Amino acid sequence: MAYVITEPCVGTKDNSCVEVCPVDCIHPTPDEPDYDQVEMLHIDPDECIDCDACVEACPVDACFAEDQVPDEWQSFVARNAEYFKAK
Ligand code: SF4
Ligand code: SF4
Repeated sequence: MAYVITEPCVGTKDNSCVEVCPVDCIHPTPDEPDYDQVEMLHIDPDECIDCDACVEACPVDACFAEDQVPDEWQSFVARNAEYFKAK
């Protein structure tokens, strides 16, 4: 499984999750060149260790375990993964 970032991150993108993720699997970080172009951040499903730290850190409750993503935001599971496939 992996964790997933969903709709509330769009327009918030405040990096609280990046600061707490122990394996640095949330991208892009502010140091990466595409940071200004993206509207939200994404979790790399191959690197996430399901630690739950991002859920606690996110001020807008955008992070969910994959099996707890609300129905209306299911498309974000693929959207997070697609971001890394394009890399
Ligand atoms: S669950 Fe843990 S490892 Fe996975 S993205 Fe969140 S903080 Fe990073
Ligand atoms: S803490 Fe939440 S709103 Fe902030 S960047 Fe991470 S997922 Fe987006």
